[in-house]
Amino acid sequence: MPRPCFTFLLFLFLAARVHAFDTVILDPGHGGHDRGAANGYVFEKHLALDTARRVQQLLTSAGLKVVMTRESDVFIPLEGRSAIGNSRSNAIFVSIHYNYNRGGSGHGIETYHCHNAGYPLAAYIQAYVLKESGLDNRGVKRANFHVIRATTKNPAVLVECGFVSNRSERGAMMTGNYRNQIAEGIAKTHGDR
Ligand SMILES: [Zn+2]
Repeated sequence: MPRPCFTFLLFLFLAARVHAFDTVILDPGHGGHDRGAANGYVFEKHLALDTARRVQQLLTSAGLKVVMTRESDVFIPLEGRSAIGNSRSNAIFVSIHYNYNRGGSGHGIETYHCHNAGYPLAAYIQAYVLKESGLDNRGVKRANFHVIRATTKNPAVLVECGFVSNRSERGAMMTGNYRNQIAEGIAKTHGDR
């Protein structure tokens, strides 16, 4: 019945569970020979790195420490990424990807966690990225992707920031404005430490 109140309480509950952190580990998906999702010359690896750099800039300006699993177009094995995810204390781990499906009908934003510790962070990132981007909500989901399964020392999530395979989302994500909106959404999470 009092839905706004419930929503507020839910957010307070989540805020309490995203415990204090001073470091954000950003993991731009793919890289090097691994292009990730691709359509023509639009490669997920480039979109993910550019988005992560924008998040890095926002978080650094806000006074947080940022660790990047890659800072250029290089291939990093999944084990190397989770090793970095486990190399810091008081951190959160955010893997940044762009999505793909055959046929191109898939659209919207989804955020994954594997362990329960990642759920509040996933819910936050999903909510803020939706708010900033205006894209459709595909929900917060649980999955076994290596980087969020093997990163156990810190809350770990993987966010899919729209579909490379969807013509209109692809058009948007090729603009800096769109990638800024996504980055703002991911970076807003730091305000809820
Ligand atoms: Zn990917």
